[in-house]
Amino acid sequence: MHTRSLQNGFLESRANGTPAINRLLDALPKNEYVRLLPKLKTVNLVLGEVLYKPGDLIKYVYFPMDSIVSLISEVSGTSRLEVGMVGNEGMAGLAVFMGVRSSATRALVQGSGTAMRMNSTAVRTEANRLGGLHDILHRYSHSLLTQVSQSSACNRFHLVDARLARWLLMTNDRLGAGEFPLTQEFLSSMLGVRREGVSKAASILQAGKLIRYSRGLITILNRRGLEAKSCQCYRIIKAEADAYLN
Ligand SMILES: [Zn+2]
Repeated sequence: MHTRSLQNGFLESRANGTPAINRLLDALPKNEYVRLLPKLKTVNLVLGEVLYKPGDLIKYVYFPMDSIVSLISEVSGTSRLEVGMVGNEGMAGLAVFMGVRSSATRALVQGSGTAMRMNSTAVRTEANRLGGLHDILHRYSHSLLTQVSQSSACNRFHLVDARLARWLLMTNDRLGAGEFPLTQEFLSSMLGVRREGVSKAASILQAGKLIRYSRGLITILNRRGLEAKSCQCYRIIKAEADAYLN
């Protein structure tokens, strides 16, 4: 059974007592968070779950705590590529805040865990008060835009092993776990490369003893080494995500 603490967006969700928070909600003024609380519902998101597809009406937005939602662009229905990642630093369903009702991307649960869910109408009403949520979602919009544009340049210019290192670091930051299930097929659509490309990139990271990849499970063995292997896009995206919250 989940128990809510007094801190904003703070939830004791793990058996080991590690607190899971959504940092965006946590940064809201206390009185505002208290007002929002009855409208927030804790939900479990399961790996592979599709929250919405392109064209779907966005009924709810999600504030991940220890789950991750991937924003995926689709080309001609078959080719897919992750263009954004939303974890405990953000909110899935930002289009609602921009005044758009339907999604342009596929929102896919990339890491199982908990999230706070809020009705889209309630988000719009709250944002129209021009208070803390409005301000922080404005700043988050810029942070996500930075992530999406940096990822787009990264996908075009950087080597697959450096991109895989970046992706693993970003996942590690948001899940808080150093080991997570991943199939090559899944990674292939995250990175927008064929499975052979994923396999080769994973082999390079394994040869450097940075990760272990076995039976669909990735384990990060050397986080510092992974940071050194990653392209600079990781640091640019992370700095922006940390800055908007401060
Ligand atoms: Zn890059």
